[in-house]
Amino acid sequence: MSSPDSRIPVAVLGATGSVGQRFIQLLHDHPWFRIAELTASERSAGKTYAEAADWYQSSTLPSEIADQVVKATDPEGTPLESRILFSALDSATAKRVEESYARAGHYVVSNASAHRMDELVPLMIPEVNPEHLALLEQQPYGSGGILTNPNCSTIGLCLALKPLHDAFGIEAVQVTTLQAVSGAGIPGVSSMAMIDNVVPYIGNEEEKLETEPFKILGRFEDGEIKPGCFVISAMCNRVPVVDGHTLCVSVRLDRMTDLHEVEDALRGFTSEAQALGLPSAPAQPVHLLSEPDRPQPRLDRDRDRGMATTVGRVRKCPILDFKFVVLSHNTLRGAAGGSILVAELAIAKGYLGDLQAPKS
Ligand code: NAP
Repeated sequence: MSSPDSRIPVAVLGATGSVGQRFIQLLHDHPWFRIAELTASERSAGKTYAEAADWYQSSTLPSEIADQVVKATDPEGTPLESRILFSALDSATAKRVEESYARAGHYVVSNASAHRMDELVPLMIPEVNPEHLALLEQQPYGSGGILTNPNCSTIGLCLALKPLHDAFGIEAVQVTTLQAVSGAGIPGVSSMAMIDNVVPYIGNEEEKLETEPFKILGRFEDGEIKPGCFVISAMCNRVPVVDGHTLCVSVRLDRMTDLHEVEDALRGFTSEAQALGLPSAPAQPVHLLSEPDRPQPRLDRDRDRGMATTVGRVRKCPILDFKFVVLSHNTLRGAAGGSILVAELAIAKGYLGDLQAPKS
């Protein structure tokens, strides 16, 4: 007789989209979580997942997911049973429903921008700001809560900035992004707009990159986040790459240092997520490459199951102090994988009520 499944049942909200599909891929055989419910828009509700979703992943859609009936995303009309809801909803829908779910006792771990900058909502990168989880204790949602994931480019940027911020302090950052089409969701940008082309505009993206890092790299003190104090200028471009955002970054540091120290700080970066051995944590959050032509999306985005950020071409900058290239997988580390790691950390540190990792 097979033993009962002791994994924590979870729901994926917005399960049919680009990020929702990654959640399904990653949660399908997750050691702590089991997909119990899937939601999407009224267009998809009532259909099987296979009927509702255009499956764009290279792995096969698991058969038990294909046959699952998609529910409406409607906290009042269609209540959910899972305590943890991984949200891959568009921002307008997230704004409308995520607080209601939290009030109903669910922990919403969201990829949407709707609540990222709310004062009591942690904007989490587990390796960067684990202490911000304490904000959950102040949220007005009773036995529920909201946790968020930063913008997909912000995640790669902050993972590379964190060791430099800790070791030398940061004064100024200039970042130019080359962002993959999967970041625009499904169906995303049309092929006529994207093939043989670069689009030098992504709605609201520069604003997110120019604000979210201050919260993420802020100090948690006296129950609140004191935002990081530096300036960021961002330029965001959509390029014909399927997955993986590339960022060309220049930084001015608070303290004078040399190239070796900068490389050592990046190379030596590790965190509590690694020490705890969380299932989705990469062995090493940042990989530093020495080859002159790396990182590249096709070659480096899947490093450590798409959860590691790759940095290369670290060199002196004649305008600021140092410059380098960062590559991070936007729908894995930058979205679904990042959220799952947030939930793992929150459970491991006892922030999600009585939810506990199943004994292996
Ligand atoms: P997407 O492919 O457009 O998927 C959106 C999902 O939301 C679909 O499941 C869709 O369901 C559902 N939805 C749309 N309107 C709805 C409504 N009125 N009520 C209920 N559900 C509705 O978008 P995505 O790229 O996966 O992004 C999802 C979220 O993650 C967004 O907030 C985005 O900003 C954020 N994010 C995306 C990335 C990325 O790289 N793609 C990275 C980080 C964060 P139907 O199929 O039924 O329409």
